[in-house]
Amino acid sequence: MASITDLTLAQIVKALQEGDLSSRELTQAYLERIERLEPGLHAFITLTPELALSQADQADRQYAAWRREPGAPHLPAFLGVPLAVKDVLCLANTRCTCGSRILENFSPVYNATTVERLLSEGMVILGKTNTDEFAMGSSTENSAYGVTHNPWDMERVPGGSSGGSAAAVAAHLAPIALGTDTGGSVRQPASFCGLTGIKPTYGRVSRYGLVAYGSSLDVVGVLGQNAEDVASIFTRIAGHDPLDATTMDLPVPEIHLGPPSEQALRGLRIGIPDEYFISGIQPEVEAGIRTAIKLFESLGAQAQPISLPHTEYALPVYYLLAPAEASANLARFDGIRYGPRVPAETLGEVFRCTRGEKFGPEVKRRIMLGTYALSAGYYDAYYGQAQKVRTLIKRDFEKAFQNVDVIAAPVAPTTAFRIGEHGDDPLAMYLEDVFTLPANLAGVPGLAFSVGFDNQGLPIGMQLMGPHFREELLFQAAHAYQQVTDWHTHQPVL
Ligand code: GLN
Repeated sequence: MASITDLTLAQIVKALQEGDLSSRELTQAYLERIERLEPGLHAFITLTPELALSQADQADRQYAAWRREPGAPHLPAFLGVPLAVKDVLCLANTRCTCGSRILENFSPVYNATTVERLLSEGMVILGKTNTDEFAMGSSTENSAYGVTHNPWDMERVPGGSSGGSAAAVAAHLAPIALGTDTGGSVRQPASFCGLTGIKPTYGRVSRYGLVAYGSSLDVVGVLGQNAEDVASIFTRIAGHDPLDATTMDLPVPEIHLGPPSEQALRGLRIGIPDEYFISGIQPEVEAGIRTAIKLFESLGAQAQPISLPHTEYALPVYYLLAPAEASANLARFDGIRYGPRVPAETLGEVFRCTRGEKFGPEVKRRIMLGTYALSAGYYDAYYGQAQKVRTLIKRDFEKAFQNVDVIAAPVAPTTAFRIGEHGDDPLAMYLEDVFTLPANLAGVPGLAFSVGFDNQGLPIGMQLMGPHFREELLFQAAHAYQQVTDWHTHQPVL
């Protein structure tokens, strides 16, 4: 018999509601699995077993009361369902490290809005997952707390920066997890670990309580086993938040995902951007995407080539803008406002010693790049210019969406690479982001999901991008695909 940790989110909700399973039983099963597999995987920075079990018991009491009085109070949507949270999102009274030594002892006194909304839907928090320091990276190797391993091949990275969340879901240490995506950090680890992951439209989901990296790019997203599970959590975290002025006051539609049907995608126009099939892409990745597109066509979709002509500039533009924003956002970590203080003679020395000792090398590199790009005399040439090119990238998408409904592309040029493979070469690491960055620069939503395996047995990820605030189109297309394929049900052997 399959273990209860193999259930999907939708199955869990059903089993809990029907009384086939208690939240304590379920939570304990995850905690036991974590105890067994976590030493090899290292998906978490902080585990919260006591909190989880007390939330589970509370959920079981609510279910019991509901059963005694059927028809009585409405049950929260995910009552008693476990969740893992990337360690850049605040959970009150639990340390939030952002993968950095500088926040080793930082314990926020409030919840991020996304966390708060899921807590009020009854979710049970298993722990805080590993991340590249301040979400800067594509492999989770930049964490000050050690690297996370990919459950499909322990010698390889899970992707990043939400690599802990991805590894946790892929290894069934949690049924679902929150991540964040500034330049690909939900989609790329979802792809490397064979999961489904949504990067919502910028402004769709509140960033309140998310430790800022690149504020004009950051979005909170969800990683899960399939489109249906991810969509159901997405609709609960999305929507206007008075605590985040960049969230849009737009209704969040319920996402209806139907049963398998022959022409499920009839009339859907899919754009295939030439610029995303460049030399250097792993041949099996390209073949996997092309096969998936054929399958979309057999479901009634019409694929057509399109052009996003400024795609090649996304990488340099992102690696100017994101570090520029990061250099400003990370100024608060100075040993006075945040962070343990390294004692020194003068205030300037305190800043210098604290930041020098507590930040890792990638964070320092980004702060230096960003400070340089923003400095007087260089501002127009770098930051100002990058902002202008960002507008061109955004316009590419606007133009494309006049003719197509969604855009299909690979998530990354390769499948999961080896731990240490890009160790001495930050540029090679940045190149991993080439296909994910444009969606962040344009603010459009992107959904990653698995479309097969390469000859090493590693998952291949495809992404669908859509117009602003049209996440439902992406979920519907991926769901239709998952109704007629079973890639999303494959599991790593652990
Ligand atoms: N890999 C990209 C970076 O290093 C994106 C990270 C992210 O999305 N948080 O900045």
